[in-house]
Amino acid sequence: MIHNDTEKLIFEQGRAGRVGVDVEGVCLIELDHALPEELRRGPLDGFPEVTEPEMVRHYTRLSQRNVGIDDTFYPLGSCTMKYNPRMNEAVANMKGFTQLHPAMPVKDTQDAFRLLWELEEMLKEICGMDAFTLNPVAGAHGEVTGLKIIRAAIRARGEKRDKVLIPTSAHGTNPASAMLAGFTPVNIEVNPDGSVNFEALEKALDENVAAMMITNPSTLGLFETNIKKIADMLHAKGAFLYCDGANLNALVGIARPGDMGFDVIQTNMHKTFSTPHGGGGPGAGPVGVKKELVPFLPYPQIEKFFSTPGIFIPMTDEHSIGRIHSYYGNFLVLLRAYVYLRTMGARGLREVAEAAVLNANYLRVSLRDIGYRIPFDRPCMHECLIMHDGLPKEIKTLDIAKRLMDKGFHPPTMDFPLHGCFLIEPTETETKETLDAFIKAMYEILIESEVSPELLHDAPHITPVKRVDDVAANRPKNLNLRWNSNKAV
Ligand SMILES: *Cc1c(COP(=O)(O)O)cnc(C)c1O
Repeated sequence: MIHNDTEKLIFEQGRAGRVGVDVEGVCLIELDHALPEELRRGPLDGFPEVTEPEMVRHYTRLSQRNVGIDDTFYPLGSCTMKYNPRMNEAVANMKGFTQLHPAMPVKDTQDAFRLLWELEEMLKEICGMDAFTLNPVAGAHGEVTGLKIIRAAIRARGEKRDKVLIPTSAHGTNPASAMLAGFTPVNIEVNPDGSVNFEALEKALDENVAAMMITNPSTLGLFETNIKKIADMLHAKGAFLYCDGANLNALVGIARPGDMGFDVIQTNMHKTFSTPHGGGGPGAGPVGVKKELVPFLPYPQIEKFFSTPGIFIPMTDEHSIGRIHSYYGNFLVLLRAYVYLRTMGARGLREVAEAAVLNANYLRVSLRDIGYRIPFDRPCMHECLIMHDGLPKEIKTLDIAKRLMDKGFHPPTMDFPLHGCFLIEPTETETKETLDAFIKAMYEILIESEVSPELLHDAPHITPVKRVDDVAANRPKNLNLRWNSNKAV
C-alpha cells in the first residue's frame, strides 16, 4: 500500500483518553475485586492511546513493509533462503503437537519421542554419522556443542590439546564457537583457488591441535576437493575433523560428510530442511558424531528399546557434556524438518542438491557472460561468488545492492567473504524465469552504472527509508536516517 511513507510511530498517533478495548466494560467480574491494588498498573507516561482500528491498521501497514521469501527472490548467500512448504506449517500447528509439554510423563509422549528418534535416524543416514543430538537450537549453538564434545573426548584421553584450526574462508561463527568452547582458534591460509593451503596446515598441525573446522562446501561456494587428505593428516596427529554443515544443501542426498572423514557435523534445520528463518527466530542445529564421540553427546539422548513398536526413553551417559538447552531443543522446528524430510523422500532430497547446484551455476555463467567477474571460475556448489570490479570505480557494492531493491529483489550477501563481492545463493526452489529476471536486473544495473550512475548512488528509490547509518542504527540516541521524502515517516 502507498501509505507507507507517511506512517507515524504509534506513539505519535491517537490522542489522550482514547482506548482500544475497554477491559472494564467487557469483563464479567468486577476488576476491582479481581486484582489486588498492589498488582494494578497506574497510568503510564507517554503510552500510546489509540482506537482499536488505529492500532490494527498501524501494525498491518508495518507488516506489509516486510520483505521475505514469500514475496520475493531472496538469494542471500550462506543463508539458504529456500521456500518453506506450507505443509510443514500445517503440521506444526496441529493441536497434538502445540499442546504437548516436555514435562508430561514419558509414557504419554511416546509418539513425540518416536518422531525425534526417527529424525535422528534420517540425519544419521543423510550425513553418514553414528549418532545425532537434536538439542542445539541454532547452527552456531551446534558448533559450540560439537566442539565441547571434542573437548570432552580429548580430556577423557588425558590430553590437553587447546588449538582449533580454521581456514580463513570459514564462516565468522567458527572462531567465535572455538573460543566459547575453550579453545584458541588458529587461522589457516587458503590458496588462490579457495582450497586449504597444505603448507600452512602442516606447519600448524602439532600435538596441541584438538580439531580443524571446515565448511564444505566453503563460504566461497566451492567444494574442498582435498578433504580426504586433510582428514588423514588430522587423524594421524590424533585430532578431529569438524564439519560446519550449514551448506549441506549442496550435498544432501549425493555425498555424505561422514564418508569424507569428518568426525562431527552440525546441520542447520532452518537452512537445509526448510524451517522459516531470518530475524533471529527459533532454529535447530542438530549435531552428528562418529562412534568414538557418542558417549559425550549432551543430555538427554533419546534411546529406543525393544524392536517394533519400541519404547522411547530419554537417557544420559556418564561422560555426557550435560545439558545445553532445556528439554529436547526446539521441538516444533525439528517437527518441520521431519515433515520436510518425509515429504521429500530420498530421491527428492537428491533433486534438492542437484537443482540448487544447477541454479547457482546458471547464475555464475550468466552473470559472467554479461560482465561480472568470477574470482574462482570453476563449477561452484550451491552458491556463486561474483565481483563487480568491471563496473566504474565509484560504484560501491552497497549501491548495487540498494538498486536491486528498486528492481524487486532482496540483495544477495555483499562484501562477504571478499571485499567487493556478492555471494548469491538461489536455492533449488526458484524457477528459471525468476533467475532470468534477476540476471536482467543485474544487467540493467551494469548499464545504469555507465549511463546514469546517480540512479545507483541514490538508490533505493521505492522504500520509505533510504539508507540507514548502520553504526548509528545500533545506538538509538544518535539515530540518523536519510529520508526518502521531507515527510516524517
Ligand atoms: C548460517 C551459518 C552458520 C550459523 O548458523 P546459525 O543458525 O545462524 O547460528 C554457521 N556456518 C555457516 C557456514 C553458515 O552458513
